[in-house]
Amino acid sequence: MVNKTVLEHAQFLDKNDELASYRELFHIPKDKNGNNWIYLCGNSLGLQPKSVKKYINQELEDWKNLGVEGHFEAKKPWMPYHEFLTESMAKVVGAKPIEVVVMNTLTTNLHLAMVSFYKPTKKKFKIVIESDAFPSDRYAVESQLKFHGFDPVNGLIEWKPRVGEELLRIDDLRQIIADQGDEIALLMIGGVNYYTGQFFDLKKIAALGHSINAKVGIDLAHGVGNIQPNLHDANVDFAVWCTYKYLNSGPGSLGGLFIHEKYANDITLNRFTGWWGHNKNTRFNMRHDFDPIPGAEGWQLSNPPILSMAAINASLDIFNEVGMDKLREKSIKLTGYLEFLLSQFGEDIIRIITPKNPEKRGCQLSIQVINADKSLHRKLMDAHVICDWREPDVIRVAPIPLYNSFEDVFNMVEVLKGILNE
Ligand SMILES: *Cc1c(COP(=O)(O)O)cnc(C)c1O
Repeated sequence: MVNKTVLEHAQFLDKNDELASYRELFHIPKDKNGNNWIYLCGNSLGLQPKSVKKYINQELEDWKNLGVEGHFEAKKPWMPYHEFLTESMAKVVGAKPIEVVVMNTLTTNLHLAMVSFYKPTKKKFKIVIESDAFPSDRYAVESQLKFHGFDPVNGLIEWKPRVGEELLRIDDLRQIIADQGDEIALLMIGGVNYYTGQFFDLKKIAALGHSINAKVGIDLAHGVGNIQPNLHDANVDFAVWCTYKYLNSGPGSLGGLFIHEKYANDITLNRFTGWWGHNKNTRFNMRHDFDPIPGAEGWQLSNPPILSMAAINASLDIFNEVGMDKLREKSIKLTGYLEFLLSQFGEDIIRIITPKNPEKRGCQLSIQVINADKSLHRKLMDAHVICDWREPDVIRVAPIPLYNSFEDVFNMVEVLKGILNE
């Protein structure tokens, strides 16, 4: 039995939502009866903008009609194609265009950035990560330690929640810095933790790292397109992200790299190099010594896959039109609404582990349903409420301000209520 007045309230919120029409720009998957799924999983894989097809078709047409000439003659020439993405991407992450490039995938970019910014010495070699860092980040960091001849067991410092807590406290990071600062070479932190949804104060983290002469890198997989990280002002040294989550650019699409402007012309940094990072004017002379393009572009290795870039282009055009400020404004309301509805179950039934303060989270709420197991998630999925399950007992729900409605959120909570009442 649907609570009619609450449903009407959700519909009222949708009617007054300035961004409501953007939902029409996306393909929402449907069930057999033609009903929309309640898709709250854009933190894992964003939905497809309808415009993607047109953007990709343009490249297929140009390839068909122009062959290799498409590098210069395509409507959007392939040679500089990545440059068409830079300005919009820079806005999304609060960076200057020279600080940003779209290339490779997240974990590859993380390794490339660590080649440049993780320069351990015998005494100063440790890396700080969150204790529940995303597995790929942990593997990458551990392998960098090993690559430099260090044992990850004592080379890795975990920033942990206190006993009985899930969230991390900046004071505990401060303590790590105070105790082991001399030995720490790098802080590698997820800007928005993938598990709890906690959004860290990046400026504070950067300042803490720099106070002991360590470098600071941020993984923005769950931040980009979700919160505004203001990377330039935060003064982090580097950041990496993917574009298939909140940036809706398709499965396995390319990643992004931020290198702070202060390194734009720094040729003393180590780097693994490739021809696409070389001075554009002499790139095709083929025999020059490596002459890096200033800024993040100088970290490129290869000529990029244009079909994926076209999808990113389509998506970024939408972000550019809306702007992160408006998106974030709606996101705070939409997630707040979800939080409000979930709070009515009571804390003895549903616990939200994500921070309560909207400034310390993005759109995702990580919820624990007391005594639930994975079958709850199965039932939600069977009812076409798409969200994800993380062991041991967390359901991550992410209402996406670009395409989710208040009614989606209402319907999700109704389905959950129905399952729990069974
Ligand atoms: C999704 C995600 C990744 C994925 O890395 P890929 O290289 O794109 O496969 C890495 N780190 C975090 C924190 C993630 O959330």
